[in-house]
Amino acid sequence: MPAKILDGKLLSQEIRHNLEETISRLNQKPGLAFIQVGEDPASTIYVNLKNKACKEIGIYSELYRLQTSTQDEELLSLIDKLNARNDIHGILIQLPLPSHIDTYRALDSISPSKDVDGLNSINVGYLHQGRKCLVPATPKGIIRLLEYYNIELDGKTAVVIGRSNLVGRPIAELLTQKNATVTLCHSRTSLLHDITRNADILVSAVGSHNFIKKEMLREGVVIIDVGISKLEDKIVGDVDFENVKEIASYITPVPGGIGPMTIAMVLENTLEAYNKLSLL
Ligand code: NAP
Repeated sequence: MPAKILDGKLLSQEIRHNLEETISRLNQKPGLAFIQVGEDPASTIYVNLKNKACKEIGIYSELYRLQTSTQDEELLSLIDKLNARNDIHGILIQLPLPSHIDTYRALDSISPSKDVDGLNSINVGYLHQGRKCLVPATPKGIIRLLEYYNIELDGKTAVVIGRSNLVGRPIAELLTQKNATVTLCHSRTSLLHDITRNADILVSAVGSHNFIKKEMLREGVVIIDVGISKLEDKIVGDVDFENVKEIASYITPVPGGIGPMTIAMVLENTLEAYNKLSLL
C-alpha cells in the first residue's frame, strides 16, 4: 500500500488559523523583525514568504534588507536597537550571512528571549539540556507533524542525514528527547545504506535531489524529507518520492511537507516570545 502523506500544508493552515484567532484577541500585536543581508535569491524568497505569513495572521513585521557590504558593527547596532524595542518581540536573521560577517556573533547578539529561530548559543544550549527554550522552526515543525499523525517515536530507530545547526543536530536532539535511538549521518558516514536500512524514521536534510532511494530503506519506514532543491522550475526534495512512497508507511511531500511547517513554527515562536516578554 502506498505511503500516507504527512500533510504539512494542511497542519500548518490549522496552526496558522489558531494563531490568527489568538492574536486577534490580544491588545498589542506581536512584532517580528526580519534581517536579510545581501541579495541571495533563495533567502529573498524565504524572507518574503515568512513576512507575508506574518501579515496574514496579524503579526506586525518589519523587514530590513541590508547591503552585501554591510559590516558586523552596523548589523550589531541594528540588532541592539531591535532588542531594546517593546513592539518587537522576535528577531530573525535570514541565513546564510555573507562570509565576511561573523554569523555566531550576530546570532548571539539577539536577546535570547527574542531569538525566534532558536539559533543563539543560549537557546541551543538549553535545547541540548532538554530545557524550555525557543526551538528552531524546522525541527520543531518536524516533531509537531509526527505528533499530529500519532507516529510513535518511543523506542524507535531514527536516522538523521545532515548535521547542520539549523536542522540535523537539533532534530537529532529532539528525537532523542522523544526516546528514539538516533544515528546522525553526514557526508563522511561510511556505508550509509546499511544505516538507513535500519531506520524506522528517516530524516533527510541534505539538499540533493533523489538522494534517498527505495533500496536504502526498509518496508514501513517513516520519511521526513527536509531537502529543498530546484530542478528546472520545480522545487524537489531529497527523496525519490515516486518509488519510495511504495514502501514507506508515511512520507512528507516536497513542496507541502516541512516547508509550510517551518513557516508556521516561526509564527508560533513569535507568539511564544511575545507571551514571555509581556509577562516581564
Ligand atoms: P547544510 O548545512 O548544507 O547541510 C547539509 C548536510 O548534508 C551536511 O551535514 C552534509 O554533511 C550532509 N551531506 C551532504 N552530502 C552528503 C552525503 N553524500 N551523504 C550524507 N550526508 C551528506 O544544509 P541545511 O541547512 O541543513 O539544509 C539541508 C537541506 O534542507 C537544504 O536543501 C535546505 O534547503 C533544506 N532546508 C529546508 C527547510 C524547510 O523548511 N523545508 C529548512 C531548512 C533547510 P557534512 O556536514 O559532512 O558536510
